[in-house]
Amino acid sequence: MNIVSRDRCVSVRIDRQVAVITIDNPPINAGSHSVRAGLLDAVREAQAAPDVVAAVLIGAGKTFMAGSDISEFDKPIASPELPEVIAAITASRLSFVAAIHGSALGGGFELALGCDARVATMDAKLGLPEVTLGIIPGAGGTQHLPRLIPVAQAIEIAATGRRLSAAEALDLGIVDAVFADNLQDNAVTFAVNLAGRKRVLRDGDAIASSDDEIAAASAAALRRRNRPNVEQAIAMVKHALDMDVGSALKMEREIFQSLRTSSEAAALRHLFFAERQAPRVEGLKGVSRLPLHTVGVVGAGTMGSSIAIAIADAGLSVVTFDQSPAALQKANDRIAAHYSALVDKGHLDEASAGSRRARIRPASTLAEVAQTDLVLEAIIEDIDAKAELLAQLGELADEGTILATNTSYLDVDVLDGASGRSGQVVGLHFFNPAYRMKLLEIVRPAALSDPVLATALEFAKKLGKIPIVTRVGEGFVGNRIYAAYRRQCEFMLEEGALPQQIDEALEAFGMAMGPFAVGDMSGLDIAMHMRRRTAATRDTSARYVEIPDRLCEAGRLGRKTGAGYYRYPAGARKGLPDPIVDSLIAKASAEKGIERRAFSAEEIVRRAMAAIVGEADAILEEGIAQRPSDIDIALVNGFGFPAHLGGPLFWAARQDAVALAAASQEMIAMSGPGLKHGDVGRLLSRLQQHYPLG
Ligand code: NAD
Repeated sequence: MNIVSRDRCVSVRIDRQVAVITIDNPPINAGSHSVRAGLLDAVREAQAAPDVVAAVLIGAGKTFMAGSDISEFDKPIASPELPEVIAAITASRLSFVAAIHGSALGGGFELALGCDARVATMDAKLGLPEVTLGIIPGAGGTQHLPRLIPVAQAIEIAATGRRLSAAEALDLGIVDAVFADNLQDNAVTFAVNLAGRKRVLRDGDAIASSDDEIAAASAAALRRRNRPNVEQAIAMVKHALDMDVGSALKMEREIFQSLRTSSEAAALRHLFFAERQAPRVEGLKGVSRLPLHTVGVVGAGTMGSSIAIAIADAGLSVVTFDQSPAALQKANDRIAAHYSALVDKGHLDEASAGSRRARIRPASTLAEVAQTDLVLEAIIEDIDAKAELLAQLGELADEGTILATNTSYLDVDVLDGASGRSGQVVGLHFFNPAYRMKLLEIVRPAALSDPVLATALEFAKKLGKIPIVTRVGEGFVGNRIYAAYRRQCEFMLEEGALPQQIDEALEAFGMAMGPFAVGDMSGLDIAMHMRRRTAATRDTSARYVEIPDRLCEAGRLGRKTGAGYYRYPAGARKGLPDPIVDSLIAKASAEKGIERRAFSAEEIVRRAMAAIVGEADAILEEGIAQRPSDIDIALVNGFGFPAHLGGPLFWAARQDAVALAAASQEMIAMSGPGLKHGDVGRLLSRLQQHYPLG
């Protein structure tokens, strides 16, 4: 027998009375409609072949099945659906072995759980990431897994989306054998030995855990992601203990289907595709990359040290330098403390911590740092200091060395010009802390060479970052939008709202933290320095809120000084409202003759969002961002915008156009003179082209 499905994504051939069914749907063997249909045909053909006693399911190329084809999730899913394929496998007389290399995720893992046994390569990964996409497993995952491992552990896996290594899966009994090589051959041998036996998970009982274990696993999953679909995933796994399996599988599928069509799941799918699209830049295909093994970091302050950690974590060597030996020493201590804390908390073993730590080497001269493949400056935010440093680096570095700047706001074209290496200077704007924050803005000066940009994108990938490529412009994408948002919130402060009210309203909307709590956390002096720096060029007719300057003048720089918009008594986890701030704000309003008035949470959100959306339009119009979805992923991954709303522009595209335009008009009218803003109508028509959302 040698069958190949109509569109060639599933084929069958026989090896030692075993039907080897190969899924070939590059690049990730996603479980698309063609794959499901091909699999169903293959299972039936194999079943009908009289000599065949067992079957192996395997993936061609780099992976087993790394998930369902989620691009099909916006429409009704065409038959056969995955549960039908799995039902054919469980009902078959043949013993099925899933042979897993690469990834068996989501539907891929569920397909493997539908088989009678699972074998894997050592580097295979398994998991149920559905909860990260706003859904739950829908093809038996919540019922089959707790029949293989205890319910509490199944909750941990199904409700967090965590990926398991093959070693862990073997340990737990999820896979039956792990092979160093020759996966297919070994899987066929395994299948020959299994022939004649069926081990259908749904026929067995779920493995109980204690109430305490279940409660602990559920609470931990919800701490990680407190969303309704996570609660549903937990409830469904628990039903493995108290429902008959047929009804539970039906219920699982119904919940999956209703969540799949929810706006939250659509938002998360949008972000999933947005992240994959973000690194794509027209004209870069086939452009060669420059070597990238060692990275130099100049300026070992807050950012320099956390960037060094991010780079060492990715397996690259880092050389650090600071003009102040004391600062360099402090950075060393900070880096050592960071890794010790990870070991103490059990997040990293001693040996890995040691080798990462050893990849970071302090240098005593700038010339030493310059002998690397990429030198990134993270010194103070001062254009003259940075220009001078880049000129020095331009002299010292080898010809092919990339020069990069971590500036948050400054003109990278100017820095490019100052370097004497025009075309080789790129902005790499990391967020704090760089080893945790996923967003990386790659800032592209006009002269930037393609190989440098391509290498910067590869660097981002190595570091596991989500890059967006931006053009030069004050604050690039993220900080510029955030500044417009914060400014609008300051306007509302002056008009009658209090910091805690604004923060609460925006946190209820979904922001990870309100803008004033964020300000206190990062330090109010950062924005103050920025205001001072731009004071000379500021439009003097524009509305200017003095409240943050007053707080800084009073020594209230935020958490680090024990007080900012809030007060932070020793040991307080959260800032407390402070009557001193209330009166400082009231005084500022009175001085401007503003009669303070009450704000509703709804108005606060409406104006804050109008400010974000307006600035996003301006950024797109100026060509600073490549596409709207880049703005979504920037705000979600760098600024705590709620992922379940898909980013501000995905959110905007789903609002009533008339209401959004009215909110924009209101925001503009309330903001007073000098506000530069976008055009909501233009934005919405742009979004229609990019987001076919309805
Ligand atoms: P920082 O003040 O903590 O550290 C700056 C370090 O640079 C200091 O240790 C200083 O001694 C050193 N330095 C100054 N001039 C130097 C020179 N000419 N040569 C060598 N070393 C020099 O500052 P930071 O917060 O780490 O910020 C650094 C850069 O990163 C700035 O451009 C900032 O805008 C940007 N940034 C900061 C954040 C943040 O949240 N802190 C986030 C993103 C980007």
